[in-house]
Amino acid sequence: MAQIKKILVANRGEIALRVMRSAKEMGVSTVAVFSEIDRNAPHVRFADEAVCLGPSPSSESYLKGERIIEVCKNRNVDAIHPGYGFLSENADFARKVEAAGLIFIGPSARSIEIMGDKLAAKNAVSAYDIPMVPGINRAIDNVTEAKKIAKEIGYPVLIKASAGGGGKGMRVVEGEYELQEQMERAISEAKSSFGNGAVFLEKFITSPKHIEVQILADQHGNTIHLFERECSIQRRHQKVIEEAPSSVFDDKRRQLIGEAAVKVAQACDYYGTGTVEFIVNENLDFFFLEMNTRLQVEHCVTEEITGIDLVKEQIKIAEGKALEIKQSDLSIRGHAIECRVYAENPDDNFLPDIGTLNTYKRPQGLGIRVDDGFEEGMQIPIFYDPMIGKLIATGKDRNEAIARMTRAIDEFNISGVQTTLSFCKFAINHEAFINGSFDTNFVKHFFNPDDIKMASESQEEEKIAGAIALMLLTDSTTVKESKLDTQSRNNGKWKQRAYLD
Ligand code: ADP
Ligand code: ADP
Ligand code: MG
Repeated sequence: MAQIKKILVANRGEIALRVMRSAKEMGVSTVAVFSEIDRNAPHVRFADEAVCLGPSPSSESYLKGERIIEVCKNRNVDAIHPGYGFLSENADFARKVEAAGLIFIGPSARSIEIMGDKLAAKNAVSAYDIPMVPGINRAIDNVTEAKKIAKEIGYPVLIKASAGGGGKGMRVVEGEYELQEQMERAISEAKSSFGNGAVFLEKFITSPKHIEVQILADQHGNTIHLFERECSIQRRHQKVIEEAPSSVFDDKRRQLIGEAAVKVAQACDYYGTGTVEFIVNENLDFFFLEMNTRLQVEHCVTEEITGIDLVKEQIKIAEGKALEIKQSDLSIRGHAIECRVYAENPDDNFLPDIGTLNTYKRPQGLGIRVDDGFEEGMQIPIFYDPMIGKLIATGKDRNEAIARMTRAIDEFNISGVQTTLSFCKFAINHEAFINGSFDTNFVKHFFNPDDIKMASESQEEEKIAGAIALMLLTDSTTVKESKLDTQSRNNGKWKQRAYLD
């Protein structure tokens, strides 16, 4: 059994820091890599050693696999942790790492290859009695054949690129009249974006929830699941808010989806941490979507409700150790919600809003966790994903987690860029979120940017009212009235919107 003494983290930002923190707790030393623009980033300062990979574009730095392997050799590194994004789902890189005598902290190259391709994944699990979205499980380029299949499964259908990811490479087709045009576009996009033109058809589930299951598996054939995460609040098919557990599952359904996820992992001889994604319809029937063969952005909510450090588990699995946790040891403690803090403008279609963090003050207190990769005064580089970090709130139950998250968002003081936090505050306090009846259409159905503009205006009013209160300590009645007025207007409006939509 190998012992890992030094890890190179082939990533940046919050995930690089998050991995290094666990490594340090295990007595493992850390090597950071960075691009020129990230020279002073927190992950670089946190590591025991740091090496510059090259210029800022990822293709000249964080994606330079050969160069990263070379750094490992020069610095006596035992293992590489890829984080998420960048090289994390690159089977060729995983293979080269192992060929160089290093440990890849992740699954085998073979598992990455199978699950990285949506069609190969569907084929691998087809023998295991896992419910799948109705559709065709092979690449299709003949329009006449596609029309026949679409008619069978019924419109609307979804054209998906087999090699797609990150919410890209999907097209909804409402009826036969637009199938040919959409298919031609999908194939050409898949070729140019993913270098692989294979597309297939799936039934488009009109009102779905996205629910996924966290998996842990060792190299000795033990596979367990760590319950589910609900990730339906999305924009551009990408998640913004995640929570664990799901508010719509009972123990029976939780067990069923967990067992299905374990089978999916076993179908590709999986080891490491992984996530099996499902789409869930209004009857709570679940269908396999895909498997992500890495640590996921939203892994923290699972850590919060299970008390398990997933990065430490990854490292132990990579060393060849057997899992010490058994399925029967696991239980759910409370409820956790994560809000992704992106430098984006919710008022303007969630377009990136790159700039300098003029003010950056994190919230604190019981049940609050902030995983981020920035500090006050830093600039958000245009070269990478605009995620500043993640705000996670845990409570004894869902209501407490929502209240705590709302309090923490109010406390989070960021200026210089717009962020997704204003949207998150709106969303978690929306009636549809509170009663659990939301699906992946939440943004389309309920979000009107004017709502958060109004909310921040009334927050301003409250601040002014507070200032007046301080000045007019003697005349408190007037102030109380004006505060109440603001609050009742706010509540009234949210209710009204929910009914209108
Ligand atoms: P998760 O799948 O972990 O819930 P995301 O879907 O946001 O979260 O993806 C995780 C990371 O991987 C993000 O940083 C995202 O930019 C990156 N990523 C995933 N797929 C792609 C892709 N096809 N192209 C570019 N980046 C991608
Ligand atoms: P990616 O690799 O980009 O993450 P996924 O297959 O996981 O692709 O799908 C991403 C998102 O797209 C899902 O979370 C869901 O919102 C939507 N989606 C995917 N497949 C379907 C479907 N068949 N019907 C409706 N929505 C879907
Ligand atoms: Mg996905």
